[in-house]
Amino acid sequence: MKPLKDSLNKTISSLGIREKLKEQFLINNWENIVGSKLYKICRPRKIKNGIIFIVCPSPLWVQELTFKKMEIIKKVNKKFNYKFCIDIKFVPGSLDEDYNKVSNLDSKEEYSFDYITIDKSEQNWVKNTVDSGNIEDEQLKLKIKNILEKDIRYKKKRKDLGFLICGECGRYVKPEEYSNYNKMCLICYNYFTKKRMKSIMDMLEDTPWLCRKDLEEYYNDLTSQEYNRIKKKIKDKAVDEVYKAYFAFKDKETEENYKWLKNSLNKYVFVVSGKKPDEIDNSTWQKWVKSLNKKIYEKIIKNY
Ligand SMILES: [Zn+2]
Repeated sequence: MKPLKDSLNKTISSLGIREKLKEQFLINNWENIVGSKLYKICRPRKIKNGIIFIVCPSPLWVQELTFKKMEIIKKVNKKFNYKFCIDIKFVPGSLDEDYNKVSNLDSKEEYSFDYITIDKSEQNWVKNTVDSGNIEDEQLKLKIKNILEKDIRYKKKRKDLGFLICGECGRYVKPEEYSNYNKMCLICYNYFTKKRMKSIMDMLEDTPWLCRKDLEEYYNDLTSQEYNRIKKKIKDKAVDEVYKAYFAFKDKETEENYKWLKNSLNKYVFVVSGKKPDEIDNSTWQKWVKSLNKKIYEKIIKNY
């Protein structure tokens, strides 16, 4: 592909064609980039904001691939010569039924949805889009036209089948794999829920006295169910830490272990009392520790 002039580059970027072309490049060169072994078990499907969505048919392989994630990112970025890929999301799916074929320019294969017609307004849109790029290279123009048309056909077919488009990864998915409320596919939804839970947990780890109301400032649709679940996790973790520290201190009464126990108890009291450090006086502290475990309480008081 010939290098494009700067102004064209901009136009192409703004049309989102650049990403499509890169996606295409990645798909066409996948075997070459990752090697035949990985090519056999996974294929890129889509690129969005530096995230490559890779389809993989077996959950077992997904696990294995997760270990190879960094290696794949490195290989891809080496091929592109810059930090093109920032992350990879593995999505379950069949290698054959994927997006690759849809936009595979160099393949002469006929696709089952090539019969789908493109109407006048769609044709015009394709023409205008291609023309607005002021591209001189006729071959490149044709490539872009083909990509856009195949994309339209592909989406139309999926739409006809009642598929819904995910607002996050852009895939067309079956209605049962789509969350209407969140306007995204369930894979993306799970991914975001996990990410969100983790970020709430991190926040509560640092500032355990935050109540649901405080957190609502950052997470406006936090449900009490969600909050309670996270809170319980944090509490379980804090209790775990107290016991670990307690047994360590019981075993060896060192200064270090004493500090560990004291700190873990502090954390526990913040979590269960919901009070800030300056709101906790001695008797409050003792009350909570005593109610957790009397033996621990006695041990810490004895060494105070
Ligand atoms: Zn999605």
